[in-house]
Amino acid sequence: MCGIVGYVGEQAGLDVVLDGLRRLEYRGYDSAGVAVLSDAGGLRVERRAGKLANLEKAVAGADLSGRTAIGHTRWATHGAPTDRNAHPHLDCAGAVAVVHNGTIENFEQLLSGLEQRGHERRSDTDTEVVAHLVEERLAEGLDLADAVRAVCRDLEGSFVLVVTATAHPDVVVAARRNLPLVIGLGEGENFVGSDVTAFIAHTRTARAVEQDQVVEVRREGVVVTDLDGTVVEGDSYHVDWDTDAAEKGGYEYFMLKEIEEQPQAVAETLGGRLTADGLLHLDELAMSDEDVRGIDQVFIVACGSAYHSGLIGKYAIERWARIPVQVEMASEFRYRDPVLDRSTLVIAVSQSGETADTLEAVRHARSQ
Ligand code: GLU
Repeated sequence: MCGIVGYVGEQAGLDVVLDGLRRLEYRGYDSAGVAVLSDAGGLRVERRAGKLANLEKAVAGADLSGRTAIGHTRWATHGAPTDRNAHPHLDCAGAVAVVHNGTIENFEQLLSGLEQRGHERRSDTDTEVVAHLVEERLAEGLDLADAVRAVCRDLEGSFVLVVTATAHPDVVVAARRNLPLVIGLGEGENFVGSDVTAFIAHTRTARAVEQDQVVEVRREGVVVTDLDGTVVEGDSYHVDWDTDAAEKGGYEYFMLKEIEEQPQAVAETLGGRLTADGLLHLDELAMSDEDVRGIDQVFIVACGSAYHSGLIGKYAIERWARIPVQVEMASEFRYRDPVLDRSTLVIAVSQSGETADTLEAVRHARSQ
């Protein structure tokens, strides 16, 4: 899971975007980068493997002034975590910059078409195809939002994309499928981010972006459309939670904080659900007792440490419910042909609720 920020306004775009990336650091990443549309025209890009500090060092001496900017923290899925593979990725002319969260499943097919048409690949990522595809659409005469919509219609997989182009300096275009994106609405400036922490230092007015929607972010306002360009109205909401909630609460690392918080987290999870006679009530579970009794096998799908919590779940469920449980990496499960039927329960575990492979595993299970 990575972090994404986009900004159009009056402030120095680089500072806004770097601040947003710092606040999104908790999501984890292996490299970081920014692109700024300079007021004089032209796109300036810096990207570095490793911590944000490496990027901050790189931008310290560089001229990255401009009021339209995008930023990214990467969690590599295609290509090693190197400077070359860090986002933003550019088209052939260096006039389109793209940051991307997720995976483009059909990138190889798209890439071979692009290479046949003379585009040169400069990274090992799946993401880079998007920059070249937008380049082609702009060359056809589409504006940036139409170009992004057209490209999204050709993409398979999961993505949050944020795109900027020298030919359209007043707008940043973002799109999402299967992964989260939020709009921040300011005065004379607007934002997009992976979550509200990306812009909460600047505005507390936010708007959700739904599946397969495209956002045109300009200084004076934001337009949201579907992939065909039909404008979609939506409500904004006020973010009233405390920024500290997303920060480290005095611990040196989030991991330490979360380890220390385990007793409290378990207590809060059980709170209001345990009855005096020791039974657990899961009212949110949309299954009848009969449904639950009908389950004859369980899959727990998850990635990383969530996978390990799934292993604990297996021991508990098998011991108490006597139903066989298989725990499986979501990234394997989603690509194979598991034996599922109507009496199989699939449990997905994700701390963020956003782990792309786990979400895909759930869709895969449903489709079976
Ligand atoms: N698939 C892209 C890459 O490997 C984006 C990964 C991410 O979500 O950070 O570069």
